[in-house]
Amino acid sequence: AGKGGVPPIVSDSQDFYTRRLYMRIVDIFNRPITSAPGAWIDVAERRREGDPCREHPTPTGRTRRCLNLGSYNYLGFAANDAYCTPKVVEELRRSGASTCSPGADAGRTEGHVEMEQVVAGFLGVEKAFVYGMGFATNAFTIPTLCSKGCLVLSDEMNHKSIVDGVKLSGASVKVFRHNDVRHLEYLLRKSIVEGQSRTGRQWRKILIVVEGIYSMEGEMVRLSEIVRLKKKYGAYLYLDEAHSIGALGATGRGVCEQQGVSPRDVDVMMGTFTKSFGSCGGYIAGSAALVDYVRAASPASYHATAMSPPAARQIVASLTVISGRDGSDRGGEKLARLRQNANYFRAELMRRGFHVLGDMDSPVVPIMCYYAAKIPALSRMCLERNLAVVLVGFPATALCLSRMRICISASHTREELENAVEIIDEIGDRCMIKYIGERKAAR
Ligand code: PMP
Repeated sequence: AGKGGVPPIVSDSQDFYTRRLYMRIVDIFNRPITSAPGAWIDVAERRREGDPCREHPTPTGRTRRCLNLGSYNYLGFAANDAYCTPKVVEELRRSGASTCSPGADAGRTEGHVEMEQVVAGFLGVEKAFVYGMGFATNAFTIPTLCSKGCLVLSDEMNHKSIVDGVKLSGASVKVFRHNDVRHLEYLLRKSIVEGQSRTGRQWRKILIVVEGIYSMEGEMVRLSEIVRLKKKYGAYLYLDEAHSIGALGATGRGVCEQQGVSPRDVDVMMGTFTKSFGSCGGYIAGSAALVDYVRAASPASYHATAMSPPAARQIVASLTVISGRDGSDRGGEKLARLRQNANYFRAELMRRGFHVLGDMDSPVVPIMCYYAAKIPALSRMCLERNLAVVLVGFPATALCLSRMRICISASHTREELENAVEIIDEIGDRCMIKYIGERKAAR
């Protein structure tokens, strides 16, 4: 107990969990960068002194220029784009950095209206509603659509924003094994029978929630099979395309385009602008009935400030380039380069004996290192060789499934990636994270 018997604001167990486990394992995340997140970034150098879990590392005043393999800058729109950046600067001068008001009050500008139309048009659906934050898009929309008496069937690898949204909704939840369509069908069948017998009534609604590309796995959803199931069992489908929109498909229209599924077969299309579009915020898109309802019912309309106008301008501008409406071929070229880069990088690492998760075409390339204890060394060695990579361990992954999560960008050149592969190959040997290398060593 703290002073006067009042319990301390941070309990010992909280302190242990967050500092000892979390802060240490996501070590690499905590290094400030001092430049825009382009293909290269400047990483501030820090010297570790004292207890690494308690002290912030001391800044040395120096920076290190690193190849950026950590940001979700899939199409290279995040910094200094010749088309987007001048438009964003102009919008900043005209409208300022904040609307200082929720959309339902005075925060919805003409730029927001235009952006929502452009987003819906790009996705091929009737309407879109935009939130100022991607995380809040899931966390606020799921409770808007589901409540007690509804059932959510959620992939076990779904993002924290989905998990929190489902918790907040009060709906019942069943988690199916990652991308396991048979398990999903088993739960659907079982839930429908149980739903009838326990309450004497059907579930008010069954919502299946999946992601286009799973952010820690680099794997794509098996969309057409899930669409077949949701139709067969009368469920609804909610698809989070944070990592797939603008990154997959010949014209960047995401996993639907990549797998030949009509966007109209997905009841709720969700995505974020923080990856391929180099902006911030998220969207909910679909039928006019859905979007009008979400706009009316979501707390974001009334209780959260609308998206920053320059961020909205960045979204419209990047979509203009992706769709080729800027009069150039840059959009198509970026999409093609992203695919070539991602496939080259993945295939090359696999050939060299790394255990790489995920599918071809996916720009998320996780390299397994399994042991959390290897994270600090891998992180340090990569930085020493001017590679900024993100190492992820518990609690973002299971305890023994730590990994180096690499995000490929269209702004990387082949030469830069070739060089990165050589360095990772060497570090992989030294840290013994290649499974072929380890098997050879064991013989
Ligand atoms: N959904 C998924 C699948 C994500 O990976 C993320 C974040 N990376 C979000 C939602 C939240 O988006 P944002 O970072 O734009 O808030």
